[in-house]
Amino acid sequence: MTTTIHVDENCLFCKIVKGTIPSFKIYEDEHTFVFLDINPIADGHMLVIPKYHGETLGDLPDDVLSKLLPVAKKVALATGVPQYNIVQNNGKLAFQHVFHVHFHVVPKPNEKEGLIIGEQNWPQKPLDKDALAATAERIRNKL
Ligand code: AMP
Ligand code: ZN
Repeated sequence: MTTTIHVDENCLFCKIVKGTIPSFKIYEDEHTFVFLDINPIADGHMLVIPKYHGETLGDLPDDVLSKLLPVAKKVALATGVPQYNIVQNNGKLAFQHVFHVHFHVVPKPNEKEGLIIGEQNWPQKPLDKDALAATAERIRNKL
């Protein structure tokens, strides 16, 4: 059984959980903490984090990780905005800035607010079945 007491004293989000840095708290339970993003891309943009400190998803024990999505669902529904995105970045190249795992819950009330994904930031390649087959095999072999 994993303990939830796993804290990095220099971590911004661990300090928010502890209360030494203030936040606009939305929800808290034994394993999970939710607060408003300080620079929201939509009204109600929240961050759902484990109390257990892990830099990226791969650092979290499965029992910690399994607590997060049900809470993300609960707070997303509480915004009253029926359309929303859940975003989770891992690593600098992948646009992570705070190295304590967090799920962004971002309401999408209209076309202008919230997450915007265009061709430029979702650069899809044309269908290549051979490449897909090779990729699928490579990943399956690592499971
Ligand atoms: P990411 O780029 O995925 O690592 O997201 C980090 C998020 O944390 C950004 O959206 C920031 O606006 C947010 N953030 C940074 N500092 C704080 C803070 N003190 N309170 C709330 N949100 C914060
Ligand atoms: Zn932390």
